[in-house]
Amino acid sequence: MGAPRLASDKVLEPLKGRDPTIATICSHSSLQIFHGARLEGFRTLGIARGRPPRFYDAFPLAKPDLFLALPKVAEIGEHAERLRKEGAVLVPTGSFVEYVGPERFSKLPVPVFGNRKVMEWESDREKERLWLEGAGVRMPRKFTDPSEIDGPVIVKYYGAKGGRGFILAKNRRELESHKIDEPHVIQEYVIGTRYYIHFFYSPLNDRGYRVGDGSLELLGMDRRDEANIDELYKLGSQEELLRAGIHPTFVVTGNVPVVIRESLLPEVFEIGEKIVERSIDLFGGMVGPFCVEGIMTEKLEFYVFEISTRIVAGTNVYINGSPYSDMVAPGLSTGRRIAIELKRAISEGRLAEVLS
Ligand code: ATP
Repeated sequence: MGAPRLASDKVLEPLKGRDPTIATICSHSSLQIFHGARLEGFRTLGIARGRPPRFYDAFPLAKPDLFLALPKVAEIGEHAERLRKEGAVLVPTGSFVEYVGPERFSKLPVPVFGNRKVMEWESDREKERLWLEGAGVRMPRKFTDPSEIDGPVIVKYYGAKGGRGFILAKNRRELESHKIDEPHVIQEYVIGTRYYIHFFYSPLNDRGYRVGDGSLELLGMDRRDEANIDELYKLGSQEELLRAGIHPTFVVTGNVPVVIRESLLPEVFEIGEKIVERSIDLFGGMVGPFCVEGIMTEKLEFYVFEISTRIVAGTNVYINGSPYSDMVAPGLSTGRRIAIELKRAISEGRLAEVLS
């Protein structure tokens, strides 16, 4: 049978008869992407904003073999020819896609690891909800009419960036005291413990936890450190904080490793499975790393508030393997897993199923 063909011959043209070069932006999770690529024998290329960052000198095993320095990453399209000449395969990351813009990224004439069609479904909150709810995954309630609000809520602006610009309110009355003038969604604020679950879907692997024609792997989990919300409780109630002019933000400052109760793993896999299956029906499937971001309540019900359909920075805590990925292959990082998938696709002549 085999997975759907995602890449046309035209997209794959620059890779004909040569080994690809793994390329990504010099930020986010680039260290493990380059490190993993190198371990699997790939040449690597770092796309830098301005001068290449000096910190690579401190990490020789993760320093890219060559750099492409651009004044603005958003202008990467103008350098597509050079990237094609290098045989580049772009690995999308949150920063990469944000700098270039999802629409422009999805049209770049350079091979990309994974299915670019996913961007259209992930970057639009409404379409993302259609996908996830259509998959049968539990999500926080969405309020279209504020009169229905019967508990704490979080207000998210469309296009809110970098964890800023959220409003938290304990009830409807408190929400009414805020001025909200931009397009937004009001969501139930779920009280529980956050888990950011790192999955990898391989359309090529015909062993393991089978989903579709391929297999689903669990490579790790993290929790984000979010300034300043994570520490606000030390200062007392929201109303007092607001009176003091302190507004909660969810700016990510780092990540910590976590594991989930083993008895919850069946549900974790079921969630990943349903999301992948729905993605196959909707747009030919997600390929490679993705992260399901949610909250486990005291009733042990998991609410998914977001999906990131590419490598997330939380995987950086596991460059030498995680308590889960170590049982897939010793010392396996998500970055290395990408390189392994690419290598397998080359040896089996199936690049069109993992690139787009
Ligand atoms: P990013 O794209 O950087 O992941 P975003 O702007 O899409 O961010 P979300 O990921 O949806 O925003 O939410 C940011 C943070 O807000 C989450 O990491 C989590 O801590 C908190 N959060 C989001 N939705 C809820 C919810 N329904 N209940 C409780 N907390 C939430």
